[in-house]
Amino acid sequence: MRTIGLIGGMSWESTAVYYRQINEEIRGHLGGLSSAKIALQSLDFSEVVALQKSNRWDDAAKLLSEAACRLEAAGADCVLICTNTMHLVADEVAAGVNIPLIDIRYETGRILSEAGKKRPLLLATRYTMEHGFYADYLRNKFQIDLAVPNEIDRAKVHSVIFDELCCGIVKDDSRQALEKIVSRGKEAGADCVILGCTEICLSLTEDNLALPVFDSTTIHSRAAVAYALGHTRADRRDAV
Ligand code: GLU
Repeated sequence: MRTIGLIGGMSWESTAVYYRQINEEIRGHLGGLSSAKIALQSLDFSEVVALQKSNRWDDAAKLLSEAACRLEAAGADCVLICTNTMHLVADEVAAGVNIPLIDIRYETGRILSEAGKKRPLLLATRYTMEHGFYADYLRNKFQIDLAVPNEIDRAKVHSVIFDELCCGIVKDDSRQALEKIVSRGKEAGADCVILGCTEICLSLTEDNLALPVFDSTTIHSRAAVAYALGHTRADRRDAV
């Protein structure tokens, strides 16, 4: 089994979900007492958020690249950035190591494509919804045309992520607000919803949502396990 390298702590609430899902998936495949080989670099999220807020993406890239190098030195066979937002610097991180980066955008796009989805609604942080790194990637690689909520709804999603879910707070009224945003997305023509922030799965499940759900955390965890078990090639990103 290959060792999965995780850059986590962004937030640790979702890294804990990765840890559980990856281990459950390995147990599902191998049974018995099998568990995943994982190397973890858990960052201090407050440092990452400070860089995000001050638009210092180069410094953020350096911080994550150094973490990726430490994972490689520790024997990891691949790297996952356990947040959608920080894929804004995924290219820099991938360039700094000799092990493959399993890209959450690629894995999500691939699953959407296989499901024949063309117009997903993206629920994510402002950075992910408003910078081009997610929408452009899915358009260029998979011809998928992302939809995002309106301005007011984007602000709501962003604040639920940072003020609640990343702090371990799960509120019923916020879940209902997210469900309404998904319904509005459907009315506007979306054919599915991407939970494009690794904490949103703490609040939303398939139940009560007006659209089919694609959870980036689950998709990413499964991709890591497929790679760890040798079911996928390291260079799959280049295959499209
Ligand atoms: N985990 C979240 C994401 O998937 C947000 C945290 C961050 O800003 O990195 O985007």
